[in-house]
Amino acid sequence: MRILLVEDDDRFAEALTVALRRHRFDVSRAATGAAALIAPPTDLILLDMGLPDMDGVEVCRRLRDIGQVAIIAVTARGDERDRVIGLRSGADDYLIKPFGVAELRARIDAVMRRARPLAPPVVHAGTTRIDIAQHLVTTANGSAVALTRKEFELLAALARQPGVVVSRERLLLEVWGTQWPGAHRTLDVHMATLRGKLGDPKAVQTIHGVGYRLATNDAAIPS
Ligand code: CA
Repeated sequence: MRILLVEDDDRFAEALTVALRRHRFDVSRAATGAAALIAPPTDLILLDMGLPDMDGVEVCRRLRDIGQVAIIAVTARGDERDRVIGLRSGADDYLIKPFGVAELRARIDAVMRRARPLAPPVVHAGTTRIDIAQHLVTTANGSAVALTRKEFELLAALARQPGVVVSRERLLLEVWGTQWPGAHRTLDVHMATLRGKLGDPKAVQTIHGVGYRLATNDAAIPS
């Protein structure tokens, strides 16, 4: 199994690489967020959230956009702020430094067991075509839909699990990274604008009191 270690601390990275190789993992390393984003694909990414060049949460999101890969976020300390960053990151799990190899091994096994199905690179919903990796949304006649970043992220969050109801809480967490008083109203407003731009009332279905579902016309993805 291939693991990409994204870690700017040389000593920590070297020690971890030795330990993981002892467990027969194929380990490669990136010392910056930028390097992580252009690294060859792996099965799992151990992502230090405190990188010198980019915000860890942003790196995590962009790694998710590039392709489906299991991600374990690694935060520096155990205080509440770091726990929140770990949770906000959109990673599958998170670890707080310092951690033992046994704990890491257990987390890796757990994450890989529940690894999510591959997101389809292109999703069709009604007359809308969504290319997540290319950040490209087109309508029936092939013209590109100009979406704001939040609108695109909202659509992409649904498109990653086509046909599955995604809860309002999950969308807020994935797109805004947090919740606040009035967050649900903001979600409603963005959803209304997104639907207006798509011009296809059937593309996104509302599941009242729960969330939204992208009405895909592609074959169902087993989960
Ligand atoms: Ca660091």
